[in-house]
Amino acid sequence: MVAPVSDYLPTMPVAKDSKTLISRHIEELKGCTACPLMIGPVVTHRPILSKIYLVGQAPGPREGEMGRPFAWTAGKTLFKWFDSIGVDEETFRQNVYMSAVCRCFPGKAKTGGDRVPNDVEIKNCSEWMRKEFDLLQPELVIPVGKLAIEQFFGKTQLASIIGTKHRQVAFDQEFDIIPLPHPSGASTWHRMEPGKTLLGQALQIIAQEPLWKAIARK
Ligand code: SF4
Repeated sequence: MVAPVSDYLPTMPVAKDSKTLISRHIEELKGCTACPLMIGPVVTHRPILSKIYLVGQAPGPREGEMGRPFAWTAGKTLFKWFDSIGVDEETFRQNVYMSAVCRCFPGKAKTGGDRVPNDVEIKNCSEWMRKEFDLLQPELVIPVGKLAIEQFFGKTQLASIIGTKHRQVAFDQEFDIIPLPHPSGASTWHRMEPGKTLLGQALQIIAQEPLWKAIARK
């Protein structure tokens, strides 16, 4: 089993109480009921300290009962992508902090599929993200899917942003950011060109990141 990256990377938070603070943060997050239309439970990650910060969109209907982000079909595809660049699912979950634009299941849309969180819900939940940026001070951010990418880049076309790396500032932190498409089975973007090639480029950029190399299979 690979040791958590926090055990050996000098860039990890140094404050002795960081672990306590992130544990407390997650306990507070689990109790959040700010959005009346959202369906609980709040889906959180483990209280780990990491400089790599993944941002999903919102949990689906199964993540709540499974008790972890990306626990269902989209997760299988996502972890297959990461495994292709040397990091299996358990190593990823041990070493990368997993968040989302919204941490609760939004319910189903009348038109089918999952409801897209509204602006108020996104704003509400961004306060939790702000706290995590304060605590973790991420150096590499990986937004997954259009909604997550929009929180950092505004409205943009996936084809113009996937396969690129940027230096970005948000929540008073400066970090590298490498966007990925959403691995949902409902999306064909990453399985057709140019998405397939751009996804491959994005994964190769991630694979070259020192923080990623530190947790990847040698
Ligand atoms: S979506 Fe976020 S802000 Fe809204 S209730 Fe869930 S945890 Fe709270």
